[in-house]
Amino acid sequence: MRPPLLNPLFAPVQSLTGIGPRMAQLLKKCLVLPPGVGEPRVVDLLWHLPTGVIDRRMEPSTSDAVPGTIVTLYVRVLKHKPPPRGNSKAPYKVACEDDAGRLDLVFFRVERAFVERQLPEGEYRYVSGRVERYGETLQMAHPDYIVSPEARDELPLLEPVYGLTAGLSGKIIVKAARQAVDRVADFPEWQDAAWLKARGWPSLKVALQKLHRPDDAQDVSNGGPAWQRLAYDELLAGQLALGLVRQSGKVQRGRSISGDGRVRERVVDALPFSLTTSQRTALAEITDDLAAPHRMLRLLQGDVGSGKTVVALMAMAVAVEAGAQAALMAPTEVLARQHLETIQPLADKAGLSIAVLTGREKGKTRDALLERLASGAIDILIGTHALFQSEVIFHDLAVAVIDEQHRFGVHQRLALQAKGSNGGTNVLVMTATPIPRTLLMTHYGDLDVSKLTEKPAGRKPIVTRKVPLETLEKLIDRIRVQLAEGAQVYWVCPLIETSEVLDLAAAEERHAHLAQSFGADVGLLHGGLSSKEKDDTMAAFSSGALKILVATTVIEVGVNVPNANIMVIEHAERFGLAQLHQLRGRVGRGSRESFCMLLYKSPLGETAEKRLIMMEDTEDGFLIAEKDLELRGGGEMLGARQSGMPGFRVAEVPGFEMLLAAARDDATMILTADPELAGPRGQALRMLLYLFECDDAVRLFRAA
Ligand code: ADP
Ligand code: MG
Repeated sequence: MRPPLLNPLFAPVQSLTGIGPRMAQLLKKCLVLPPGVGEPRVVDLLWHLPTGVIDRRMEPSTSDAVPGTIVTLYVRVLKHKPPPRGNSKAPYKVACEDDAGRLDLVFFRVERAFVERQLPEGEYRYVSGRVERYGETLQMAHPDYIVSPEARDELPLLEPVYGLTAGLSGKIIVKAARQAVDRVADFPEWQDAAWLKARGWPSLKVALQKLHRPDDAQDVSNGGPAWQRLAYDELLAGQLALGLVRQSGKVQRGRSISGDGRVRERVVDALPFSLTTSQRTALAEITDDLAAPHRMLRLLQGDVGSGKTVVALMAMAVAVEAGAQAALMAPTEVLARQHLETIQPLADKAGLSIAVLTGREKGKTRDALLERLASGAIDILIGTHALFQSEVIFHDLAVAVIDEQHRFGVHQRLALQAKGSNGGTNVLVMTATPIPRTLLMTHYGDLDVSKLTEKPAGRKPIVTRKVPLETLEKLIDRIRVQLAEGAQVYWVCPLIETSEVLDLAAAEERHAHLAQSFGADVGLLHGGLSSKEKDDTMAAFSSGALKILVATTVIEVGVNVPNANIMVIEHAERFGLAQLHQLRGRVGRGSRESFCMLLYKSPLGETAEKRLIMMEDTEDGFLIAEKDLELRGGGEMLGARQSGMPGFRVAEVPGFEMLLAAARDDATMILTADPELAGPRGQALRMLLYLFECDDAVRLFRAA
């Protein structure tokens, strides 16, 4: 059970003054929520750290205010000057003064009642914003803050700047974040006193105060003491959680699972191809792990299209041969259903009973499914993180496969592992992103790695070309020729702004443009569609009814349409190499010659050009990942957005590697001295684990 001291932080954001249902929805868009968390909570606001500050500390008189700067002025409201009737374009002005001179506050398209309420004639107000000179007059257009003398405290002289989304103002977040910080209790210190002193780090509460209500512009920096402290807290929580899992793995010996090979044989018979040597080797490593009396934790790395799914199916088949069950978890619904489609025909031939569970299964269907799962009637369950839900009870889960793990955190893995009876579940994690060693350590601790190094036979190379946007029409002509020969095209429109609305607009515009040439052959897929609409569009593309699929990256393009042989990526220069490589892997799966067109906007910077040339030159995902790091430099290595790497909430800071190494040592020392976290520091550390939502790790104490 989470300590009550933490409850105010895990309450929904709507429990904060100023946040209603509408704001909560907007916050949901702009805060990073852990997978499986549906509604934003106060704690999510705490981890939403500012990207900078606006300095409002300059408080000159009107005669000293420097045009173009942000200032806070103390003025008396003289007179309202509404726009002349019938001229809605003219601004609404409010004349103000202080001892030194005059100032006009200027509002465009504003409600009169609003201005009158904010600025009653004859009263004094603090106004803060950018001042400009307009002829002889000093002006401030749309002040950021207008507060009465009594409420002066509400005006943040150093205002943190937060990442926002359309419709959400910084002011709302500032106000909400302040309340969130006020809810942080004086927790017992879990960090070592000497270490804190040596680093000059404040307590957690002070750190959060400095970040969300800075008194110094320096406070808000991810290299500063406050942020570093939080980063270290997050890393230590992660390392402790891993240590606890490892420790409990030793206590619970796990069990040996080996089958007689009969299900695997039938799967192999059903395959229209033979396994590659890499696939066989990986499979042998997995079956050895399963047969050994310890719990498996293995990472299967293999480039897009290297055939990880079949390996997963074979691993799951071992569980079924041994009379147990298996689960396969994908990061999105589209991918889960795609897996189902691939696996279903093979499973049918092999006599395996499979089912799918996502957020979409509801009511009676879901109940019936859960019942069959609990009775053992289902051999393999495929799904999204709906599988984590506590109502999902397996009869005997022996093998869990997690696809594209980088979207999930350690905690999710723990939750799934905990669903296994008899000493925990064997876990196989699959990823197409070559993950640097340090990150592996962070997220898994020690784990074994299998690699699929060869591509299935019969694959043709994908011809990759960078193409300037100016030659778009020529490209469209070439596509027309290809379409006549039966080709199919993915057309990816990237994130342009951090706003879904604008991204969608770009995709819609491209869709409309292509439809002029290709009519009803062009479909559009984006995150705003319902599951059903997505499925229908996808199915239409799969069946060939649609020839061109325009898609935003918000949706998962990780789908398998072997006939699709052309991938067009717009604004390719904005993508990480790893991401480009992933996208490109969606073509080249069938017998047709395949193309990847990297559309870019000129002029291309030097590094950007090198990156695109790299894509033209090689299809080796591991090489590309290495090169990507080199070109971007180590500092950006952890850019979650770029690389799709595991989600840290605050720990992506300069000095990450050093902090991680320290946290790892620290965790080892702590668990050696106090494996049950029972001592005073141990108790405090349990609080830390709950704060970073490693509840499952804490629960292991009871299991042991
Ligand atoms: P990924 O590693 O990206 O998950 P998939 O498992 O989706 O790759 O496999 C991509 C495609 O390659 C699928 O259509 C699959 O049937 C096919 N495939 C897998 N293994 C082989 C093989 N040994 N020979 C030929 N085709 C294969
Ligand atoms: Mg896959």
